[in-house]
Amino acid sequence: MNSGVTAVKCFLWLANWLARVALVLLWPLAGAALAMPVALPGHGAQDATAHLELLEDPSAKLTLAQAQQAFVDGKFTSTADSKDALALGFTRSAFWLRLELSNTAPEAVHQLLDVVNARISYVTLYAPGPDGSYVETATGSDMPFATRALENRNFVFPLQVPARGTLTLYLRVQSTIGLIVPARLWAQADFGHYERHDYMVQAMYFGVALAMALFNLMLFVALRDRAYGLYVCFVVFSVLALGQKTGMASEFLWPQHLTWANPNYYMATSWGLLCFMAFMRSMLGTAQHLPRVDLGLRAGMWLHGLMPVLYWTMVQSVARFTIWMYVVSCLLLLGVVAWCMVMRMRAAYFFGGAFAVLMAGSLVTLLRALGILPTNVLTVDGLQAGSTLEMLLLAFALADRFNQMRREKLKAQSDLVLAKQKLVETLQASERELAQRVDDRTRELQAVNEKLEALSMVDGLTGIANRRQFDQELRKAWARLERLGQPLALVMLDVDMFKRYNDHYGHQAGDECLRKVARAMASVGRTTDVLARYGGEEFVMVAPASDGPSALLLAQRACQAVLALGATHAQSPFGVVTVSCGAASVVPGVGVTPQDLLRQADAALYQAKAQGRNQAVLAGS
Ligand code: GH3
Ligand code: MG
Ligand code: MG
Repeated sequence: MNSGVTAVKCFLWLANWLARVALVLLWPLAGAALAMPVALPGHGAQDATAHLELLEDPSAKLTLAQAQQAFVDGKFTSTADSKDALALGFTRSAFWLRLELSNTAPEAVHQLLDVVNARISYVTLYAPGPDGSYVETATGSDMPFATRALENRNFVFPLQVPARGTLTLYLRVQSTIGLIVPARLWAQADFGHYERHDYMVQAMYFGVALAMALFNLMLFVALRDRAYGLYVCFVVFSVLALGQKTGMASEFLWPQHLTWANPNYYMATSWGLLCFMAFMRSMLGTAQHLPRVDLGLRAGMWLHGLMPVLYWTMVQSVARFTIWMYVVSCLLLLGVVAWCMVMRMRAAYFFGGAFAVLMAGSLVTLLRALGILPTNVLTVDGLQAGSTLEMLLLAFALADRFNQMRREKLKAQSDLVLAKQKLVETLQASERELAQRVDDRTRELQAVNEKLEALSMVDGLTGIANRRQFDQELRKAWARLERLGQPLALVMLDVDMFKRYNDHYGHQAGDECLRKVARAMASVGRTTDVLARYGGEEFVMVAPASDGPSALLLAQRACQAVLALGATHAQSPFGVVTVSCGAASVVPGVGVTPQDLLRQADAALYQAKAQGRNQAVLAGS
């Protein structure tokens, strides 16, 4: 029984060993089927991803020997389904990748294995050396740049595949953030060509970005407009993030520093987003137009502003969350831009355009990764091209804003000039109106004055000249006739027994009688004669160029005219209203005064009264 068991055990042991030996012996044949042919010069990069075999090492502690044993144990899985990048996600595991290269040529060939992701924390290649034992090359984004086998922004390893033979490589990768492993194989000559071209594109991108940043920095200094400052910060952080993503920053900015790459990349992205949000708020005036969304933007700014504390302390734990935070932030920004575009805000179109080109760039890169688009300058560096165009469009938005502000300023200035002009015109018009009013008022006043003057010269009751006008006329006539040496006659007239008339007929009737008497007397003189009311019921006539007899004749005619009125005067011995007249005439000259003439006429009147009334008497007769 025991011997039987021992025999079975022996058999199983033998079978196990035979199987192992068979596997080892047969493996090169199987391997030959799986092995990747070396890249031939002139054919460019050959995608190696599909030829990789993969082993996850959750403990991250496996040694090369253990990995090799795991392969022998069939624990590696094929990655043939992957496109040109192996996406392993956010994990703390290390991964072992096995690649077998076969060379059918009669001589050894030089190849380059290119791991096209500059942000893998640890990348270790195990390749057989000349003596067949494996040589380790440990590098990664968390290692100094000097550890790179070849100076390149990505991880590039030179290999030598023996003539008519195979080369089995083990690549160990591990990362603190999302692990993506795109692997390519180059013929050495092709790589040199690609590398020059690649660095030229990178230099162009960073050159443009640097120029944009410096130019807008100068504008910021000159214009003191916050938007320019925010734009410059946004560009600087974008450049830093992209520089870190492409591996350019680790190569040229801080080649000595360990573990900087990933926290730095996240920090630059977060602060870039922070600046972009602030820039957008300032350009679109969200605080004013979209207060609630603005609150969201401000919250986003705080979050992105503070997150770097976590990036630098626990990047591995927050990496997955960070990616989602970026996605949400981008969706928020997209939403704001779309809304502002719907609201037809001018600056929003530039932001929309900037987003569109950036997304187009990312999409092109993605489509190339999926093998839908061919690999060329545009598709490989789509993100850089998109980012460049985005920066240009946003700078254009700033220029447009400047233009808009200038136009508004000019408009405000011309409005001001117009308003001033209008004011001046209004002032001039009101000045003219005022002058016109003053003129009108002056004319009115003149008319009133003339009226007053006339009134002051006219007797209110009878409408003939009053005592004032009489005095004036007498003076004028006196002076004129004195010059001419001609006589001036004066007739004094007094209504007879008028007191009685008043007493009998009343004052009203007396007034009416005085008016009639005045009218009657006015008709007897020449046009040059002046009839005036001297006071009460006394009248006076000035007759220029009239001698004594003419004066007497005039006085008599006046008596006749009043008598002819036939105005009943019951209290008068004549039965009608009558007047008595005293006439006088002198030649004005030395020794005689108007008063003398008045006195003579008055004396003649007195005489006419005394002689019985209703008669005319010439002075001195
Ligand atoms: P005589 O001259 O004939 O000697 O007598 P008389 O009655 O006219 O006397 P006197 O000249 O002194 O009287 C003047 C009168 O004239 C007195 C007054 O009643 C009257 N009288 C004076 N002025 C006015 C006036 O404006 N209206 C009226 N109704 N009467 C007047
Ligand atoms: Mg009298
Ligand atoms: Mg009288």
